[in-house]
Amino acid sequence: MEVCYQLPVLPLDRPVPKHVLSRRGAISFSSNSYFFGGPAPRQLAKRRGAISYDSENQTALYIRMLGTYGDVRVRSQVGFEPEPRGSHPYLYVDFRTLHSRPQSAGPVSARNVRRLLSFQRYLHSSRFIRGIPASNPLGYILDDDYTGQAKLMLEKVGNWNFDMFLFDRLTNGNSLVNLTFHLFNSYGLIELFQLDMVKLRRFLVMIQEDYRSLNPYHNAVHAADVTQAMYCYLQEPKLAETMTSCDLLLGLLAAATHDLDHPGVNQPFLIKTNHYLAALYKNSSVLENHHWKSAVGLLRESALLSHLPTEDRLNMEERLGSLILATDISRQNNYLSEFRTHLDKRDLCLTNGRHRHFILQIALKCADICNPCRPWKLSKLWSEKVTEEFFHQGDIERKHHLEVTPLCDRQSNSVANIQIGFMTYVVEPLFVEWSRFSDTRLSQTMMGHLSLNKQGWKEGRDKQEANTSRASEEQRTSAAKDSNSKELPQGSKGS
Ligand SMILES: [Zn+2]
Repeated sequence: MEVCYQLPVLPLDRPVPKHVLSRRGAISFSSNSYFFGGPAPRQLAKRRGAISYDSENQTALYIRMLGTYGDVRVRSQVGFEPEPRGSHPYLYVDFRTLHSRPQSAGPVSARNVRRLLSFQRYLHSSRFIRGIPASNPLGYILDDDYTGQAKLMLEKVGNWNFDMFLFDRLTNGNSLVNLTFHLFNSYGLIELFQLDMVKLRRFLVMIQEDYRSLNPYHNAVHAADVTQAMYCYLQEPKLAETMTSCDLLLGLLAAATHDLDHPGVNQPFLIKTNHYLAALYKNSSVLENHHWKSAVGLLRESALLSHLPTEDRLNMEERLGSLILATDISRQNNYLSEFRTHLDKRDLCLTNGRHRHFILQIALKCADICNPCRPWKLSKLWSEKVTEEFFHQGDIERKHHLEVTPLCDRQSNSVANIQIGFMTYVVEPLFVEWSRFSDTRLSQTMMGHLSLNKQGWKEGRDKQEANTSRASEEQRTSAAKDSNSKELPQGSKGS
């Protein structure tokens, strides 16, 4: 953190024009083409505005971004605004700031520091890719400290015990960018689809930044974890032998973007508070539609696929949507019964594109809810994080006198209860079918962890319940003793 203050702070030479603020991401990365042989700043000024007014110094550029026109202000002026209609008091709460920290951290907030690190790494790796030695000592400091260990972890990225929390720390909070880039690279997707590496990197950074880091659970680390799980499933023999490059590309893209810009509350909450997203998507798969549309927005903004024929691009966007929409847990039974029917009939044929797409949907669903199938240490951490997010929603509901969702009520629910229910009614049924489809060592491992973890939560709950009843029994006994001793005549005490 201190390292930020050591960088030279240069004055802003020109204000950022208003129209630039209306385009998300413009401030952050639109200047990159200049560094990589694009037009000179003055030429850029006409169409890029903000960034082009900066000096030619890379560090200065970023410092400028940390200044008056820093991330928080930019984002508060773009995107959807809450609708000022309706009578519900919650309508007047700016939804986008629900999870914001109070901005008392001074000129360089934690988020900006994270963005700086992310940007430095982005610049450094982009230059590295192009064979240009890094000129920024900060890049060296970060790389020397952590990259070696992160690289070692990536060598075992197909391991089911992969610790995404650790990987995120080793990459300075850039797990999603680094992991997804690595997977694209190792599958050869960059060459196959002739992807521009700078655009890809920029796209991934934008995705990572559009996850809300203040969400305890639905943040970029969860997206990275789902992407890693998706990779594990794509490596399973049945899929590895049949999936096309396009399937792999879409599978990874869908995993990385499947919760993009998640607000940290669920769909019923958005509906009962008349949130604009609920109205926009007519109360149906509200969050998933938003994740998909946000992903398409970033795909187009980054121009990652702009070199492909329009028809192919639109087709890929549609398929991406179909994959992300499949993660809507309220539709789980539809997917599950279709999956079961296929398995009973043994009619899945993965040379058929529609069947492959269906299996990708199921694989993404599994990846999304695979936390209970991870080793206990990781699984427990994810469980605590998701419960923290649920309870946070319950707190907001209570504060605004809304009906508190039972799942989100910290006064009547517990991590153990939530997890046991989730495992029994949601996770187990899906993974039982997945294991039928892909009867491999990985599936056995996952089912083994699932069973052990469920047992772990049950034992914990039983122990806690036993402690609680013992404590209340003791309380009752001591209360009874107290009342007995009060009833005794004073003279009898001590006799
Ligand atoms: Zn998710």
